[in-house]
Amino acid sequence: MGNIGYERLHENLKTLNMEKTSAMLDNYLEVAAKESLSTIQILDHLMNIEAEEKIERRIKTRLKFAKLPFRKTLEEFDFNFQPSIDKKTINDLTSMKFVYNKENVVLLGPPGVGKTHLAIALGVNAIKEGFSVYFRTAAELISDLRDFSNKGILKQKISKWNRLKLLIIDEIGYLPMERDDANLLFQLISKRYEKGSIIMTSNKPFRDWGEIFKDEVVAAAILDRLLHHSTVVNIKGESYRIKERTRVGLTTAEPFESKTE
Ligand code: ADP
Ligand code: MG
Repeated sequence: MGNIGYERLHENLKTLNMEKTSAMLDNYLEVAAKESLSTIQILDHLMNIEAEEKIERRIKTRLKFAKLPFRKTLEEFDFNFQPSIDKKTINDLTSMKFVYNKENVVLLGPPGVGKTHLAIALGVNAIKEGFSVYFRTAAELISDLRDFSNKGILKQKISKWNRLKLLIIDEIGYLPMERDDANLLFQLISKRYEKGSIIMTSNKPFRDWGEIFKDEVVAAAILDRLLHHSTVVNIKGESYRIKERTRVGLTTAEPFESKTE
């Protein structure tokens, strides 16, 4: 290939955002010539690497967008420590069928039992599967919704959020809510119903949700939408944080445990 063709090739690779191919082309073509590879073999190899790179980049972008507070995987979760969790239920969730079907997941249990860990791990899996994910604590979510409502853009924003495939709402119930906040949350959940998945975590059993929302009727309406198509994982066990502390020889029970939430 002449110089002009060579330069144009690199120009075009740049325009097409095929940086990986551009970077490896010269070396690879030398190898390909030595090994007498066919044109198909060469193109296949280059396209494969470029496609993998593109998928990686997409995952990175989605992970950044999701704002996960920390990165955890299911492989890192010790199911032996939490026998009340049915491993099969979690494995079924990892198939991501619930996201395809726009169903919900609710993780319930006391502090430290791994609710956020599991929610994040499922979120990471969803991202790898190609879904868009967004993580908010209940407090952050309420603050966003209040802000949207004050600006008169609540409906628009909720419709926009409905395009996200998975919304993770962490820590419902850690902080009591104002009645207006419960109404905002109800609007989000009722408009999202059958349009997109939610993973919600809470340290409070459903019977206490009336108290969280300071309104039994709104709580019942939220639960009705949330639970219609859902998997509920009720974790009854010890805090993993306390276990870790005990292991390193610190105290067994910390009175301020919940402050670290
Ligand atoms: P919760 O949200 O229920 O309060 P977290 O998910 O934040 O609990 O868990 C607290 C810490 O303990 C996190 O660092 C988490 O990764 C870890 N953890 C909890 N349960 C397990 C477990 N069964 N196996 C491994 N790590 C765990
Ligand atoms: Mg948590």
